[in-house]
Amino acid sequence: MPLRLYNTLTKKEEDFVPLKEGEVRMYTCGPTVYGRPHIGNYSSFLLADLLRRWLEVGHGMKVTHVKNITDVGHLAGDEVADAQGDDKIERQSREEKADPLELARKYAAQYIEDETALNFKEPEHRPLATETIPEMLTMIAALIERGHAYETDDGVYFDVTSFADYGKLSGNTLENLSSGARIKVDEKKKHPADFALWKKCVGENEHHILRWDSKWGEGFPGWHIECSCMSEKFLGSPFDIHTGGEDLIFPHHECEIAQSVGSRSGDSAISAGTEGAENGTNKTHVNYWVHKRFIDMGDVKMSKSLGNVLTLPDIEAMGFNPLDLRYYLLSVHYRTNLKFTKKGLEDAHKARRKIMEWMKEVEDAEVSEGVEEWDQKFSEAMNSDLNTPAALATVFDLMSWSRNENQLGACKGIVETIRSTFGCFDPEGIQEIPKEVAELAQKRLDARANKDFEASDSLRNQIQARGFEVKDTEKGQEIIKM
Ligand SMILES: [Zn+2]
Repeated sequence: MPLRLYNTLTKKEEDFVPLKEGEVRMYTCGPTVYGRPHIGNYSSFLLADLLRRWLEVGHGMKVTHVKNITDVGHLAGDEVADAQGDDKIERQSREEKADPLELARKYAAQYIEDETALNFKEPEHRPLATETIPEMLTMIAALIERGHAYETDDGVYFDVTSFADYGKLSGNTLENLSSGARIKVDEKKKHPADFALWKKCVGENEHHILRWDSKWGEGFPGWHIECSCMSEKFLGSPFDIHTGGEDLIFPHHECEIAQSVGSRSGDSAISAGTEGAENGTNKTHVNYWVHKRFIDMGDVKMSKSLGNVLTLPDIEAMGFNPLDLRYYLLSVHYRTNLKFTKKGLEDAHKARRKIMEWMKEVEDAEVSEGVEEWDQKFSEAMNSDLNTPAALATVFDLMSWSRNENQLGACKGIVETIRSTFGCFDPEGIQEIPKEVAELAQKRLDARANKDFEASDSLRNQIQARGFEVKDTEKGQEIIKM
């Protein structure tokens, strides 16, 4: 039975068919590290973690997951329009009187700490925007060459009228955008909806601290370009799945499609990336766009700008385990808005405990014949667009059914499936050191052997940014998860 996934681009559920049999390439927009991410952010990352786990557990696929860290270029006004206001990280660094890169490293480390507590699987790559500048410069140049971008006094902009399919993902037509009062009219731009690929360090951005040389002068990248480059760098193009929170559909993902498709030679329309997909049309450089709905606090959206956010330390201070939160977030379907309440979290805590007690009984029972029909019910629920509430209902039905030793013993296999799918019923093994971190650590060893301490310090920072600490001991270099 194939996995059915709701695709934001085609606005329907489709069979998931990977481009290459048995392998999945998936990209997730990670956090902008200017503060501790809140539980709404984690609920969106959790969708990707769940999807990854189910592709592995339920379908035996090999998943390559890329999850970036945004450490430059995300401006305060980017959610409603494009490239307006302060750089979020630089603004926070002024407030904390800290260096913007150091600040970004600090919050990136906190974020990875939270992900570990929430039992997220380590993605294969965690690229940083500041490490992908050369790829961004190349893509911007390609967009200019293909007539999709132009230079102004203060930057390089994507010409939205040059890309016929702009608006297809979000449903925002150019007419709607033109009349939208939320976009500041910038005289230098050809169309109000044109978005920045590169911002020059002039005018209001004259004092931007993070800056790089380019053929358009010193500057820094716009927010959207990084994800086009980081996804292509690690996954190629086209790839299978792109995930994110629903707030990223517009403008972020709409712009990413325009950049990724527009910069590829000989192709300026949404039609690429069709092989392996159920429908031969309407695809982008990504076959499946999957988005997580917001969490609400009561009746309002949980958002940093509204000041009603909770962080993982807040949840722990309320006396809950991070995995209670993980269960709570997974108990509601990802395309339903979860209305967060303390009562809901308490119920989640109780339900999780009940399931774990049952799992212990199963563990202690003698193994007996399997329970195929329950396996099938659980898989059907998960294959139905990751219907976690239905999957959990099956777990509770199974708990009521398995009353004697023989029945309990028959549940051993499915308990393993449930554990590895949900990831919140038992502590799992210690996380391995990702390949990327191991490579950086080897480079650091080489740098130290060559007495290049500047390089070795910079490598240590890069390792830290990925959530690992390097220690030099008598036995040599040790890498520890922070
Ligand atoms: Zn992104």
